[in-house]
Amino acid sequence: MVARGRALTADLAVVGGGIVGAFVAYEAGRLRPDWDIVVLERHAPGSGATAWSAGADFPIAATPGHRALVADSRARYADLRGTAAGAFLREVPIVYLLPRDRLERFGTQVAAVLRPLTAAERDRVEEMLPGLSTAPGEVFVTHDEPGAVVHARPLADALLSAAVGRGRTAVEIGQRVRRVDASREGYVLRAEGEWRARRVVLAPGPWDLPEPLPVALGDPPGARRKRIAALHARLPVRFGDPLVYFVADDLFVLPLAAGQALVSFRRDAWGTDPESVDGRADHADILEGTRMLADRLPDAAGLVTGGRAFCDLYTPDRLPVVLTSPGLPGLAAALGGSGSGVRLAPGLAARTLRAVI
Ligand SMILES: Cc1cc2nc3c(=O)[nH]c(=O)nc-3n(C[C@H](O)[C@H](O)[C@H](O)COP(=O)(O)OP(=O)(O)OC[C@H]3O[C@@H](n4cnc5c(N)ncnc54)[C@H](O)[C@@H]3O)c2cc1C
Repeated sequence: MVARGRALTADLAVVGGGIVGAFVAYEAGRLRPDWDIVVLERHAPGSGATAWSAGADFPIAATPGHRALVADSRARYADLRGTAAGAFLREVPIVYLLPRDRLERFGTQVAAVLRPLTAAERDRVEEMLPGLSTAPGEVFVTHDEPGAVVHARPLADALLSAAVGRGRTAVEIGQRVRRVDASREGYVLRAEGEWRARRVVLAPGPWDLPEPLPVALGDPPGARRKRIAALHARLPVRFGDPLVYFVADDLFVLPLAAGQALVSFRRDAWGTDPESVDGRADHADILEGTRMLADRLPDAAGLVTGGRAFCDLYTPDRLPVVLTSPGLPGLAAALGGSGSGVRLAPGLAARTLRAVI
């Protein structure tokens, strides 16, 4: 997939080949087929937070600010289905369990019409989650529009391959961009090699922005890095079973394959440095996740077989942001995946691109 750069000065340099950077390069090549584009990636495409993502995509917009981004991202994912990259998207029904008194408010946050489960759907949830404990007053709801599971790492690869296949995009791996300096023609990016580009999109995920930028963009105000962890659990799930989201617990069970599920849970470990995580869940992740799962499934400890963990940059309201600076024309940073950076990547990439076109 790696191709060498062609232009002396690229029209666009994308720093970071995670799911966000991959969407930026893919979309830029689609909108501007005459542009020379270079993606500079310090390690390998999709090897950051993207590699460990559960990739769950549900139509929840936690704040009004999320609504347009959720809708745009879902529409763009739908457009991918007919392409080669669509192989890495899988539809999945979504079931929510929540206290009845939260139903009305929750309904305003879901961009779909909620309805109660049928008896058959309810039976299936109970079969896949044996011994499931629900609190008095909790209700199951679903919507007819399916959610999706995004296989984010291979999708990032597929998007970059498609971009490279168009002939004017190069992906340079092993290139950690350390400096971005303004120049007469745009910017000079210094990594293991040196690149010149008229425009720059920075998509470094939880890593710091290259230093020093001509004018520091910095992190979005109040943004912090947080660990994200998920457990692997042996559960009697089948292909086609729903993702079950326990809204009050901020925990979901996602069937992966027959007999295997991923359990995503809230992990409040702040200040996690991306250099300190390697994708493996540690003892504290397993303990905390098992404790939270045990609130719902009594035999949680006997079900857990392992886990995964990485980190992400969280904004205060969990809405990813596009940062620009008047002193830096043609340069933008897409930051703050906030644990939803896969499902929001297509819309975030499009917004970021609009800021530099
Ligand atoms: C366990 C887990 C579960 C998750 N579950 C979900 C989920 O269900 N749904 C969801 O939407 N999201 C989920 N997320 C969050 C999601 O994975 C992230 O928000 C998303 O992957 C962020 O993508 P990104 O491209 O911004 O960052 P990354 O994937 O981290 O990509 C950034 C890339 O930039 C490169 N880079 C950084 N700095 C430089 C530099 N200076 N020069 C060159 N390259 C650089 C890195 O090597 C990396 O490849 C989960 C995350 C984890 C860890």
